[in-house]
Amino acid sequence: MPLTFPAHQSVVIPLKQRFPSRFDGLALVVGAGAPDLLYGAGATWLFAHGLFSLPILVPLVVAYCAALRRWALPGLFRFAPSIMGTDLRAYGAMAVGRPPLTRSLLSAAVGVGSHQLWDSFTHAGHPVASALGFDRFLFTVEAGPLTREFTVARLIQYGGHTVGSAVALGLLYWIVRRRSPGVLNWSEADRLTATPRANPVRPLAVLTLVTVAGLALWPTVGGRGPFVLIILWTVAMLGIGHYVERSYPSSPIAAKPGQPAK
Ligand SMILES: [Zn+2]
Repeated sequence: MPLTFPAHQSVVIPLKQRFPSRFDGLALVVGAGAPDLLYGAGATWLFAHGLFSLPILVPLVVAYCAALRRWALPGLFRFAPSIMGTDLRAYGAMAVGRPPLTRSLLSAAVGVGSHQLWDSFTHAGHPVASALGFDRFLFTVEAGPLTREFTVARLIQYGGHTVGSAVALGLLYWIVRRRSPGVLNWSEADRLTATPRANPVRPLAVLTLVTVAGLALWPTVGGRGPFVLIILWTVAMLGIGHYVERSYPSSPIAAKPGQPAK
């Protein structure tokens, strides 16, 4: 589980970089996190991570991305930091344009599928991991009241999530640093990064409250706890982005007919 986000996004971000006009980048990265959210919402882990959940997850991902573009972007990134001269508020430019529905559906399916494929190797309960012998018990780690049994799958999971998260964050930095062509609308990114940075205090206060609520729910939902927390953050992000955008209006460029969406 550790660092499930943004590890899964490390697989799909290079697709957007390599084929910027073929993929809806937002649907790729949201889709790559979606199976864990379906599990958090009450589905069995195997269903959420199997092909039969695609018809549920893909439309949900596309609808959530449309809501993000409509209400929460670019506000969600208006207080993103600048790291070594690279201003991550540029990602607010994802609000520009509206990708064709078929591109968003395909991108959501690729994102969801990439997560499901990855997890099929890294969870001992999955038939693929079992068939490969990855469910073999290795050792137990005890830390106070917590006992964790390690299998080959879990070692791959923890290692992959750690490396994947580092790679994803590096890629997100690198895209803005080198202004990867076609990944974002760079003129809109320049406009957004030239405006005053939003004050993060209120959004952080809301996130803190949501996190406390998620932690309070944790004992009642058991192993789904981390994913219930991520669901709460996912919903909160819509409200926070909308609030920031209303408080610090940036009037994003409306998509002109024929303008390529990102
Ligand atoms: Zn998963």
